Amino acid sequence: MNNALVLFSGGQDSTTCLAYALQNFSYVETLGFDYGQRHVIELDQRAILRTKISALKPEWAARLGQDHTLDLSILGKISDTALTSEMDIKFNEAGLPNTFVPGRNLMFLTFAAALAYRRHVTHIIGGMCETDFSGYPDCRDDTIKAMQIAINLGMDQRFILHTPLMFLNKSDTWQMAEDIGGHALINIIQSDTHTCYLGERGALHDWGYGCGKCPACKLRSEGWLMYKNKLPA
Ligand code: ZN
Repeated sequence: MNNALVLFSGGQDSTTCLAYALQNFSYVETLGFDYGQRHVIELDQRAILRTKISALKPEWAARLGQDHTLDLSILGKISDTALTSEMDIKFNEAGLPNTFVPGRNLMFLTFAAALAYRRHVTHIIGGMCETDFSGYPDCRDDTIKAMQIAINLGMDQRFILHTPLMFLNKSDTWQMAEDIGGHALINIIQSDTHTCYLGERGALHDWGYGCGKCPACKLRSEGWLMYKNKLPA
């Protein structure tokens, strides 16, 4: 079955994954999570992005199926992090920022698989990335591979978890979007995706909207500069 479910938050990475899925699979559904994130604005961008991306190519429009959103607000309630409550972003001694939401990707993948089970979808696609992973242990390749085994054993299925951005940096991710959808896709990602942890969407910079100071904005803007200037990482 050449069908896929994309974990689609409305950020740069998951939007690139959506384009990747539309290029590589014959039928694609999307899934977003409301987990009490401060940047909940990203969820509002999802419908806009789906409409604009599917309009880029007729075959993409034909392949794009249903959208789903799941309420995982319990995650925000049990976590004490700068991503889910009003506090300054800080780093612990091991370099892990307090934007890390423990269990987030583990829960996301488990719920994605539960939905994929009901929808008879085989391939699950996520934008997890080990290169620019901000120290998040649940973005590592080994974590995702372990989840694939656990989910398949626990649900007696043969889901395949794809992470096309796993070994790319943010500059490579911009380049991948250009390779898949050209400058039309780059323009959509620039103006309609949301990355900023603080939910800031005041001024449009050439790399997109955001405060320009939080770790997510820094990664995104530095990656954009590298991509634009074709600098080696
Ligand atoms: Zn920001």
